[in-house]
Amino acid sequence: MKVVVIGGGMAGLTYAVVSCKNGYDVTVVERNARVGKKIAVTGNGKCNIGNANVDKSCYNSSEIVQRVLAEISVEEYREFLRSCGIFTYQDGEGRMYPLSDSASNVVDCLRFQLEKYGATLILNAQATAFAKEGNGYVVTVGERKIFCDKAVLACGSPSQATAPDLIPFVPSNALTPVVPSLVPVKVRNMDGVLNGLRVKANVSLYNDGFLLGQQSGEVLFRDYGLSGICILDLSAIIARRAVARKEGNYIFALDVVPQLSEWELAETLYGRRGWQKDKLFYGILHNKLAEHIVKRTGNASPADYAHTAKFLTFPFEKLLDWSMSQVTAGGVSARYMDQRTFELSNGIVALGEVLNVDGLCGGNNLYFASASALCTFTKEQRKRAYSLS
Ligand SMILES: Cc1cc2nc3c(=O)[nH]c(=O)nc-3n(C[C@H](O)[C@H](O)[C@H](O)COP(=O)(O)OP(=O)(O)OC[C@H]3O[C@@H](n4cnc5c(N)ncnc54)[C@H](O)[C@@H]3O)c2cc1C
Repeated sequence: MKVVVIGGGMAGLTYAVVSCKNGYDVTVVERNARVGKKIAVTGNGKCNIGNANVDKSCYNSSEIVQRVLAEISVEEYREFLRSCGIFTYQDGEGRMYPLSDSASNVVDCLRFQLEKYGATLILNAQATAFAKEGNGYVVTVGERKIFCDKAVLACGSPSQATAPDLIPFVPSNALTPVVPSLVPVKVRNMDGVLNGLRVKANVSLYNDGFLLGQQSGEVLFRDYGLSGICILDLSAIIARRAVARKEGNYIFALDVVPQLSEWELAETLYGRRGWQKDKLFYGILHNKLAEHIVKRTGNASPADYAHTAKFLTFPFEKLLDWSMSQVTAGGVSARYMDQRTFELSNGIVALGEVLNVDGLCGGNNLYFASASALCTFTKEQRKRAYSLS
């Protein structure tokens, strides 16, 4: 069987490795000079390759997620990685990393498998068209026409990449709008004094007073707005709503003293009555954050200062752009594809981030990209592939 894979990212490489280990004649077409460019920048260069606690609640509510997670367990994913020479460890929160702690080493391992099992790589080459021909398909790459029995679209997303052109490959009814996700947010009320500060906080996202989501972790204040993993995760809620064409009147509310209740904090500040305002939060908050809270609250009671610290609000303005987003909300709607084969109505198989599936930070996106490819094979085919290293 001849297979053409469009896109040499995690999804395309996974599909290609399992295919060639099952004896298929595989060609990977990649528009970049090398495969795995995005894998190589993941996890700050360490590659957070998966998550041992992966769960459907980490993703948007696409029905295909359940199918993928039910079919490909974490153990099986590890088995696949090990068969490619990638050994992993996990941190206290279940985030999986390669033992090498090197994202580019992960790319080396996958590429080595393709070389070893005889796949053809066509680099610096953009696939531009796809059509049915006879019993098979033809993929156009520059001047070349490549005939195949199966074509796989694994061309990713516009997040930190040139936007892939999906029009030649995807029936238009199967495309949703796309929105940058896992992305810093521009907010109002930002104060230059906070720029660069990192603070542990509980963050709540509200829409017109309704709580949409909560995350805890490090918030990074920037001159334009807010960043940090918990902010990126909350940006996914806004992005998913935007894909569903839902606007909102969003507010980020930070509890920057999560260790104390509002009452305990107010009581402590009452005990400091008479202190100069710039010393009020000594030993509790970073001076810059204390300065901001005092400035915002004005001449007020200790209870008001405590309330500001427990409910520091930043009205949302916009999601930042593709150049800062880690993943894309929206894409090829799984509703229009065969839930078993991942084939669209024109016969192309769509995998990975090109689909309207996005996960929270923590390894969920690489996991889905790879697992979506794995679960299009039968158990026997997967087993055969894992038995070869
Ligand atoms: C900075 C950053 C950090 C991240 N960190 C993590 C992390 O730690 N953990 C995690 O799980 N996820 C992380 N992600 C998300 C994760 O990298 C992606 O979700 C995942 O790599 C998607 O894999 P993919 O194979 O679907 O797409 P991609 O990796 O985007 O691969 C698609 C490939 O297709 C090629 N292509 C596109 N169109 C064509 C065409 N017409 N012809 C030929 N080739 C084409 C592209 O050049 C690209 O190489 C991160 C993303 C970014 C940007």
